[in-house]
Amino acid sequence: MKEHVEIESFTLDHTKVKAPYVRLIDTSKGPKGDVISNFDVRLTQPNVQAIPTAGMHTLEHILAMELRPKVEGYIDCSPFGCRTGFHLLTWGEHTPHEIALALKESLQDFVDHVEWEDVPGTKEKECGNYRDHSLFCAKEWAKQVLEQGISDDPYERKIV
Ligand SMILES: [Zn+2]
Repeated sequence: MKEHVEIESFTLDHTKVKAPYVRLIDTSKGPKGDVISNFDVRLTQPNVQAIPTAGMHTLEHILAMELRPKVEGYIDCSPFGCRTGFHLLTWGEHTPHEIALALKESLQDFVDHVEWEDVPGTKEKECGNYRDHSLFCAKEWAKQVLEQGISDDPYERKIV
């Protein structure tokens, strides 16, 4: 039997949360004192809805472009394997409220202004599965998230 490793994301009760929301998972401090924050950016209700892979993939490319300039110290935003949201990693500390506002602004800009030719990294040279994208799917799910509103609390609807 494997030694027990506690992973915070798996201790979260996924039946209790109310998506869409942004949640601070944790912060960790490196040996030189730098702080990295890890957020749970949940777009759909766990075990109820999941974004199809092509839409999720396009959203990943979109968030890399949209969130980066809006979040100071942005490191990376990567999809959950369950396709219900993303991990956002940043240098330094931010409140879930700040991240939720940046996400809202990002998705609104995406829905209103982004066309296929604006999506970054969609050529064979630039992406590991360039055939698996859907702008239509990504926009439909972004619209749903905006309609439902993004909460800065995972358990209570505190929409930003
Ligand atoms: Zn890609």
